[in-house]
Amino acid sequence: MIEKLAIIGVGLIGGSFAMALREAGMVREIIGVGRSAANLQEALKCGAIDRIAPNAAVAVQDAELVMLAVPVGQMAAVMQEIAPHLAAHTVVTDAGSTKGDVVALARRHLPQHLAGFVPGHPIAGAEKSGVGAANAGLFRNRQAVLTPLPETAATATSLVRAAWLACGARVAEMAPEEHDRIFAAVSHLPHLLAFALVDEIAARSNGKELFGYAAGGFRDFTRIAGSSPEMWRDICLANRDALLQELDAYQSQLVRLRALLEQADGAAMEQIFNHASQARNDWASQKND
Ligand code: NAD
Repeated sequence: MIEKLAIIGVGLIGGSFAMALREAGMVREIIGVGRSAANLQEALKCGAIDRIAPNAAVAVQDAELVMLAVPVGQMAAVMQEIAPHLAAHTVVTDAGSTKGDVVALARRHLPQHLAGFVPGHPIAGAEKSGVGAANAGLFRNRQAVLTPLPETAATATSLVRAAWLACGARVAEMAPEEHDRIFAAVSHLPHLLAFALVDEIAARSNGKELFGYAAGGFRDFTRIAGSSPEMWRDICLANRDALLQELDAYQSQLVRLRALLEQADGAAMEQIFNHASQARNDWASQKND
């Protein structure tokens, strides 16, 4: 049982984490902090949190667990604010989509508290933001990746692992660099591509007409372009090196496909499509979340 949980950033992820732990009966009191008063009122009303704290420094006092669920570009400011107010027993975790930058920020701003810091990233979410989109089942049967530091105490990792298990998630551990390489390929690049395609079509003089004819394929490919621009700006910048490498690999593939199309080499194109189709269908049938 966690006596006091502090959620810094009660949005989709922070709100869902709070609701899931409450539903699991794992927490007695939940304190929330955020940038938007309206969103915090909604969090109170829907029962995601019990109290609103005036700021993060007050929220973390005597907390057993602190969840940083703000965009990764806000992590430095939040860490600086809470650092002087953390008790020795307080465990701090985060939900940021990038880990190398968050770990570097923790080393800079929470140097006295590294034993109690457990970086994390739930592999679940949506293109919606705010506590209104949160739900207790968001993490059920999904993965939560933890990237503990060499300094992180085993008891701190155990508490965060237990919290994610109580949310219904499976927990994996890896190094922050490995995390960032993996998610550059399978998450950050697809988001960049979706934003790029929708932006390019929307900027055309006949964009409205094109959207009028867009259907299932366009919807599936671009759903994630409806995601929070702030959050994705921060993620792209935080994982810039790995994302640039993925972008280069993708550009090479486009160049290759473009050449085949120019040469009307249907057989070679079909080979690529076959390979992709098989891999996509295998992935979808193995994935049970
Ligand atoms: P969100 O916009 O729904 O929630 C973020 C909340 O943080 C907002 O309520 C905002 O008011 C608050 N906030 C922003 N800056 C703040 C600050 N300085 N102090 C206090 N509160 C602040 O976003 P989200 O989708 O819940 O994402 C939160 C974190 O989780 C991000 O780091 C994101 O990278 C990560 N994440 C998101 C997803 C997803 O699919 N949305 C999935 C996994 C991880």
